Amino acid sequence: RAKERGRNIYHVYTVVLHEELNKRMKLMKRLRQAVERDKLSVYYQPKVDMNSRRIVGAEALVRWIDDDGTIIGPDQFIPIAEDTGLIIPISDFVLKTACKQLSAWHSLGFSELSMAINLSGKQLQSPDLVEQIMQIVEDSKVPPQSLELELTEQVFIENIQSHTNFMHAVRDKGIALAIDDFGVGYSSLSYLKHFPVNSLKIDRSFVQDLPHDKDDATLTQTIINLAKSLDIGLVAEGVETEAQVEFLLDRDCTIGQGFLFSRPIPAHEFTQLLNQYKGQIPIQIT
Ligand code: C2E
Ligand code: MG
Ligand code: MG
Ligand code: MG
Repeated sequence: RAKERGRNIYHVYTVVLHEELNKRMKLMKRLRQAVERDKLSVYYQPKVDMNSRRIVGAEALVRWIDDDGTIIGPDQFIPIAEDTGLIIPISDFVLKTACKQLSAWHSLGFSELSMAINLSGKQLQSPDLVEQIMQIVEDSKVPPQSLELELTEQVFIENIQSHTNFMHAVRDKGIALAIDDFGVGYSSLSYLKHFPVNSLKIDRSFVQDLPHDKDDATLTQTIINLAKSLDIGLVAEGVETEAQVEFLLDRDCTIGQGFLFSRPIPAHEFTQLLNQYKGQIPIQIT
């Protein structure tokens, strides 16, 4: 009987595995088609100086717009894109689109605006990534100083040697580097000394329960102190409440990004946001 049960369990597992694999294959195929048929779109979320409420930059966040209008978020397809190599055309598209958009916003008079673009570890394996990026930057005529690349903490610590070369090459061109989702990835901070980083983005998991969660308050304060003592910039991710803004401003963390100011939005809505308030986000009365 046990044997029979074992066989049944085995059977259930293979069926589940098979279904999973099938789903994945279908998703891969759909993603490939989406890339070929230009179904990707770049949304932008403002980075805001929380003192003045002025928009100081934008982060480019890719979306997949399905035929029925459903918006599929990057968490659902970036991992598959990495496995299949589709990450290369996708990030090429994001880089080109975001640089062109930044150039348009600069031309509208928002010349101080910066643009942040996410890179994944897989992309860093491409030896001519820096040249590719610089080609796009030159074509779009945006100053490299107005660009920032975001890499997660995980990426910083993998494959340190080749990544360090990439980072120095990027910095030599004048492009800034930020560590994304800071605080969730790694326990040793010594790596910070070795990388030419311009800023840290405090992961939203720390910000979420501020100001009442004591542990998160302590951890956030620690990250702020760390950035200050290393003289690197700070951005708080996932700012959703005025109480969080107050907590962060009290501790001299002035740049924030989050749903309180705006969700990621299509370019034309971002342009409206810029024009409507001259680049300033009104304090929401809730
Ligand atoms: P990320 O770079 O850490 O981006 C921030 C994510 O947090 C975004 O999710 C954004 O919509 C979300 N977010 C912003 N403010 C708030 C808030 O106040 N509350 C909450 N709950 N969430 C907030 P999104 O757009 O789904 O992107 C997820 C991740 O996918 C990004 O995390 C980034 O790692 C990756 N990603 C996005 N676009 C690209 C891309 O073009 N290339 C690569 N390689 N990765 C990308
Ligand atoms: Mg990011
Ligand atoms: Mg992040
Ligand atoms: Mg994230």
